[in-house]
Amino acid sequence: MMWQPIMEKVRSRLQSWKGNLLSFGGRITLIKSVLVNLPVYYMSLFSMPKSIADMINKCISSFLWNVKADRGIHWIKWDMVCGPKSHGGLGFFDVKVRNRALLNKWIWRFSEDTESLWKKIIVAKYNYDPLAILPKGISARSSNGLWKEIVCSVISNEEDFLLDVRCVMGNGVRIDFWSDFWTGVRSLKEAFPRIYGLVTNKQGKISEFGSWVNGLWSWNIELRRELFSWEIPSWNRFNQVINSGVSTFPGVDSLKWSGASNGIYNSRDFCIKLASAGKLQDPLWYKVWNKFAPPKVAAFVWKAMYSRLPVASELMKRGVNASVQPLCLFCKEHQEDVSHVLCHCSVVWQVWQRWCYLWRVRIIFPIDVRQLLQVWSSQFIRRKVRNLWHLGFFGLIWQIWLCRNKSRFNGASFTVDQLFNLVLLQVGFWGNVLWPTLVPQVLDFVRCPDAIIFGCG
Ligand SMILES: [Zn+2]
Repeated sequence: MMWQPIMEKVRSRLQSWKGNLLSFGGRITLIKSVLVNLPVYYMSLFSMPKSIADMINKCISSFLWNVKADRGIHWIKWDMVCGPKSHGGLGFFDVKVRNRALLNKWIWRFSEDTESLWKKIIVAKYNYDPLAILPKGISARSSNGLWKEIVCSVISNEEDFLLDVRCVMGNGVRIDFWSDFWTGVRSLKEAFPRIYGLVTNKQGKISEFGSWVNGLWSWNIELRRELFSWEIPSWNRFNQVINSGVSTFPGVDSLKWSGASNGIYNSRDFCIKLASAGKLQDPLWYKVWNKFAPPKVAAFVWKAMYSRLPVASELMKRGVNASVQPLCLFCKEHQEDVSHVLCHCSVVWQVWQRWCYLWRVRIIFPIDVRQLLQVWSSQFIRRKVRNLWHLGFFGLIWQIWLCRNKSRFNGASFTVDQLFNLVLLQVGFWGNVLWPTLVPQVLDFVRCPDAIIFGCG
């Protein structure tokens, strides 16, 4: 089967890594590299069947969540995982989306490659108008083949890529007057059926309906009869619409894609557009994927933002590990859920407050991790140590989680003091690596963080 090599490639590259030896952040990086290196050759010539795309996606998702032989949990839906980080995704795209993006390119090439051999062959084979700017649909009866597959998949695909492609009149010799999308309406024929019924010329390019006279475009549209007075308003509206599409000077006809600011189609922007459809852009995600938190910690916070972590309540919800101890191991009072163990727990909240007290900052008791990050990001902190404050969020949440794991799996227990010192050590360590002039000594930071936070600078 044609797609076998691609599936094998994905599988073997992912299997060559023992998923459980890599952190979640490491697995994200590896998936990106596998997806980027998929053979573009196949992807840009053939429409990938849904079954193949599903299999590849499942394989990648299983690797991401370390699910083996169907044992394990895909914590966040594949649809949410894929997509730009600004919209809550992990910054990679579904293979099918990428496949569509590459196939769409052919539509662009069709309009631009006027002289190339492939274009001539296609035009001859499908009996296209050699001047046409867009390939028209191919009837199911016409012979099958590569091009048919490409055009059919572009024309029939549910996102309706062509709705975003507009013809821009230059000299009007390549754009179909009645059916191409070159004015404010998708097709003049459909928007003005009465007028279409009255004209003598029912097909042809824009240039057959007018000409340049002294540098100005002038229409010459013949009607079969005089207009009745009640038809005049419609005729005027028709003229208004066609005038809106007229170019200011006789250049070359071209296509414009509304998905890119420069109007030129590119597959990356198409993937982003498709993968972010129906999702909200939230600047908070930029706070998660910042420049300083280690990738695995950022990835952890990403999961925490969705409240999807293997805590007791979530595991029980999914029917895993029925024997799991349901109580939080810090306070041993409340059921362990994501918000509780990362912020609401009386022990944990004291640690957050201790950090804030250090900075002379007061924060509200948050609903969840998401709101905590929001509140965190909105604090006014002087520029010099602002990043250190932000790093604190990651140091806190990460150490709380590590200690939670040590309590759960190794029977350890922690006091507020111990937790807080671990946080200082963590932030001091990261801070020292990132900004050695700001945090020259890790232990100095642990002993006397005030000196840096309110230091002489
Ligand atoms: Zn607790």
